[in-house]
Amino acid sequence: MDTPDLINKTFLAQNKTALSWRNSTTDQRIERLKKIKTWVLENEKKIQDALFEDFKKPAAETTLSEIYPLTSEINHVIKNLATWVKPKKVPSTLAMAGTKSKIYYEPKGVSLIISPWNYPFNLAIGPLISALAAGCTAIIKPSELTPHTSGLIKSMIAELFESSEVAVFTGDVEVSKNLLKFPFDHIFFTGSPTVGKIVMEAASKNLSSITLELGGKSPTIIHDSADLKDAAEKIIKGKFINCGQTCIAPDYVLVQNQVKEELMMEMKVAIQKMYDPEYKGIEHSKDLARIINQKNHIRLEQLIQDAIEKGAKFEFGGNITPETLYIEPTILSNLNENMDLMNEEIFGPILPILTYEDIQEAIDLINSKPKPLALYYFGKDDETTNKVISDTSSGNAVINDCVLHYLHKNLPFGGVNNSGIGKAHGHYGFLAFSNEKGVLRQRVGFNNSSMIKPPYGIKVNKII
Ligand code: NAD
Repeated sequence: MDTPDLINKTFLAQNKTALSWRNSTTDQRIERLKKIKTWVLENEKKIQDALFEDFKKPAAETTLSEIYPLTSEINHVIKNLATWVKPKKVPSTLAMAGTKSKIYYEPKGVSLIISPWNYPFNLAIGPLISALAAGCTAIIKPSELTPHTSGLIKSMIAELFESSEVAVFTGDVEVSKNLLKFPFDHIFFTGSPTVGKIVMEAASKNLSSITLELGGKSPTIIHDSADLKDAAEKIIKGKFINCGQTCIAPDYVLVQNQVKEELMMEMKVAIQKMYDPEYKGIEHSKDLARIINQKNHIRLEQLIQDAIEKGAKFEFGGNITPETLYIEPTILSNLNENMDLMNEEIFGPILPILTYEDIQEAIDLINSKPKPLALYYFGKDDETTNKVISDTSSGNAVINDCVLHYLHKNLPFGGVNNSGIGKAHGHYGFLAFSNEKGVLRQRVGFNNSSMIKPPYGIKVNKII
C-alpha cells in the first residue's frame, strides 16, 4: 500500500477510535501516558544514541532537554488530569437566572502533529502527551532531517499503540502535504513561520483548528543594573545548548553602552568555563552539538561572512570546520540592520551584541520587528523591568534568566502572531486538543426570554 492510501486507511481507523475514546476515563488516559513514560525511561540510552547520530547531541543535553521535559510533563498531567477533565460550573448572569451551565471538555478527535528537527524527540512526543490527555488520537509526522530519532519514534509508537490510536508517518515534505489534505480535528505544528503559513492555509481548507508553535528572533536586554556575571552565564548556557538550534534561544543581545565591555569579558569567561575548561580547544568539547546539516552550516557561515563584510567585529569565536559541521560559539559586535543576521532567525551558535543608550531605543528596535517567541530581560531595576514587559509583545518573557520558562508546567508556552498561534504545555496543551463546550440546562416550563418573541412591539426596548 503506498503512503497516501495508508494515510487514508489510518485516518479512517482513527476516526472510529476517536469516537470510542470520547468518553475514555481519566484512568484510561493516564494508562496511555504511563506506557510512554515507562518506554522513555527504559530506552534513555537508545534516545541519546539516536540524537547523537543525528547531530552529535551530547547525551546529557538529551536527558535534560528531550527526556526530562516529557517525563515531567507526564507526571504533571497525571497529577492534574482529573481536575482538568471535570466539567466546570459557571455562574448564571441576571438574564440567565434559573438556568445552570457548565463547560465540558470534549476531545477534539483525530489530531495531526507535525514536528521539527531541533528537539526531535521532545517536540513530537510533547504534543502527543497533550493529545492523549485530552482523549484524542494522533498521527505524528516527525522531521526528515533527524532520521535516527524519527525512526526510533516510529518503532516506539508501533510498540505501544495500535495505528488506529497513534500512528507515525516518517518522510519528507510530500508526506506532510499528503497528511495536510485530511480533515483533522486539530493540527499541532511546530516549525518555522514560513511553513506555519503553509500549514495554516492547508488547515483552512477543512477548517481544522490549529496550534502553531513557530520561531523568530528572541531579544535579550541587559540593563546597566544587571548582575553581568550571572547574566552572561545564563545567556551563554541558553544560547549554545543544542549548538544554538533552539527556538527560544536568545537571538541577539541589546546591552546598555556603559556595561558592554564588562559583559563581553564575562561572556568569554563563561564560554571558556563551559566548553573548554582545560584549554584544549572548544572543537574537542563533548558538550557542544553540531549543526544539523550542510545546508544550515553554509547558511550560518554566510550569515557571519555577510556581517563581517558589512563591518561587524568578532568578539569571540568565528572558527568553522565544514567537514564536521562545527561552528565555534561566536559573538559579534558592531552590527547594523542591513545585515542578514539582524533580519532572519539565526538558529545557530552566533550571538550578535548591539548597544543602546536609553531603554526606549531597545524597546523601539524590538517593536520594529515581528513579535518574538520569547523576550529576556536582565536587570534589577523594577521600573525598567515593568516598562519592558508592558511596552513590548512576545509569546513569553523571562526576567533575569532565559529559556527556563520552557520547563514551567503552569505557564502557557507559545508565540504570538509571527512566532505562533495558541499555547502548549500542561493545562494549556490539554485545552489545545479539547473543545470547550458550553452546556446550558434550562428548567422545563421556564422561559427566560418570554419577553422577546413576536409580536415584539415595544417590549424589546425594555431589555436594554
Ligand atoms: P520546518 O518548518 O522547516 O519543518 C517543520 C516540519 O514541517 C517538518 O516535519 C517538515 O517535514 C515539515 N514541512 C517542511 N516544509 C513543509 C511544507 N512545505 N509543507 C508541509 N510540511 C512541511 O522547521 P525546522 O527547520 O524543522 O525547525 C526549525 C524551526 O522551528 C525554527 O523556526 C524554530 O524556531 C521552530 N521551532 C519552534 C518551536 C516552538 O516551540 N515554538 C520549537 C522548535 C522549533
